[in-house]
Amino acid sequence: MILANDFRAQWEEIEADACAALARVGRSGWLILGDETRTFEEELARTWGLGHAVGVGNGMEALEIALRAAGLEQGEPVLTTPLSAFATTLAIVRAGGHPVFVDVDEAGLLDLDAAENWLRAHAPRRLWMVPVHLYGHCLDLERLAALRAHFGLRIIEDCAQSIGARWKERPCGTVGEAAAASFYPTKNLGALGDGGAILTDDAALAGRCRMWRDYGQSARNQHAVLGTNSRLDELHAAILRSAQLPRLEKHTARRAALAGRYQAGLASAPHVSVPHAPRHSRSVWHLFPILARNGTAASLAAHLLRHGIQSGFHYPRLIPSQPALRGQFTLAGPLTRAECFAHKELSLPIHPWLSDAQADQVIAACLSWQPEISSCGAEK
Ligand SMILES: *Cc1c(COP(=O)(O)O)cnc(C)c1O
Repeated sequence: MILANDFRAQWEEIEADACAALARVGRSGWLILGDETRTFEEELARTWGLGHAVGVGNGMEALEIALRAAGLEQGEPVLTTPLSAFATTLAIVRAGGHPVFVDVDEAGLLDLDAAENWLRAHAPRRLWMVPVHLYGHCLDLERLAALRAHFGLRIIEDCAQSIGARWKERPCGTVGEAAAASFYPTKNLGALGDGGAILTDDAALAGRCRMWRDYGQSARNQHAVLGTNSRLDELHAAILRSAQLPRLEKHTARRAALAGRYQAGLASAPHVSVPHAPRHSRSVWHLFPILARNGTAASLAAHLLRHGIQSGFHYPRLIPSQPALRGQFTLAGPLTRAECFAHKELSLPIHPWLSDAQADQVIAACLSWQPEISSCGAEK
């Protein structure tokens, strides 16, 4: 079986470093918010090129805490994408925001043209945006920065899939008030469990995030806000710092090589297409999305499984159609392209332990797929 993620192969590679990290934490006698977390935060911030990192429990809480600490008020509109992990919108709602869904562009990322149209119609209200650098691609940061300046937009960037991605030379996560990262095991920088972080250049904002993650304590036994409990454990921080962060560049290079191999191998595929990454994105390829041009992603996935290949859908159901939201959102316009991705997108295995031969098997299976013909418009 060709796995979508191979955590056993990962363990073989990192075992010695991860066990040394475990021993270090055990011997230190300090398990929560100590030297390991602080040191990892410093190294992550330095690697990223931002001033401060605040380790938290997971990526969703990183978004939620960043929005709260940046001052989101109850009911304020937050532009975001309907095509993402549900956690993106859940964080917005939990922080009190009102999600406004904008269609996606041809790469599957939030369409900044559509966003700008909506902003034009709704300024000068105080407006927010949670853009997602989806699939490991980087959205147009120059454009985001221009929207921020022009509309006074407040931005929290969802970098859960994109640690290390760049637009030209500029790292994702450096345009908004803050960036949110996830260390969920499947992510590019994965922990052996849950974890996340908020990154920012704003020292005061970082300070408020530290307060929020620790019951809202401004000093020991002083609670300035009704915060939450969302802390990155010493153990996860130690493993991330000693076993994962030092390998990130190497693993990203491997993912990029596999992406290149897929792109070349699928360039003239009859029934699947590879959506282009945004033009100047230096992607980290958290996922490798393809579109089942003729037919559905589900039927392509079944075909791949018959060839012993796992794949994934990102994402088969748009966030505004999830029952939990119960209509409590606004659509900025029709979600035509997002609907198309929901029906047609399939993610191929692209983890760093995938061999060239396995990638070639995946390509061959994609090429041999004979779909039932259906197009996006006709299919619903
Ligand atoms: C994984 C993910 C999240 C949530 O991260 P968790 O650590 O699982 O809470 C948020 N946004 C996106 C785009 C993600 O991929």
